[in-house]
Amino acid sequence: MGDCLFCKIIDKEIPSEILYEDDSVIAFKDVNPQAPIHILVIPKEHIESARDIDKDNCHVIGHIFAVIRDLAKELGLDEDGYRVVNNCGKHGGQTVSHIHFHILGGRQLSWPPG
Ligand code: AMP
Ligand code: ZN
Repeated sequence: MGDCLFCKIIDKEIPSEILYEDDSVIAFKDVNPQAPIHILVIPKEHIESARDIDKDNCHVIGHIFAVIRDLAKELGLDEDGYRVVNNCGKHGGQTVSHIHFHILGGRQLSWPPG
């Protein structure tokens, strides 16, 4: 998509610290980490938000969660746990309109969110 920040990261037009990549998914470090480990996992297909998941694209969301499981293990988060966050739309606090899943870990996280 023309001026989508995350599509530019996928196309390597904008640099990022990539931790995992395959044909349909990419994972990279969040540029403004909110925890000792803060990774974003996104589909290469431009899906705007959770509101746009449908029967044709939902397979990649399942794949993303398998990637999250494996990355969390690799990063040593498995034992103590971690949080997976998807912000959707204005009230959800979504700032980039390309669906993404945050992996946050490495410290005790509080609940509820603000
Ligand atoms: P959200 O607020 O859920 O839409 O999350 C967007 C996330 O993208 C924020 O945590 C930002 O820190 C992160 N972000 C913005 N620009 C970049 C970038 N160029 N590289 C990596 N992460 C970014
Ligand atoms: Zn995009």
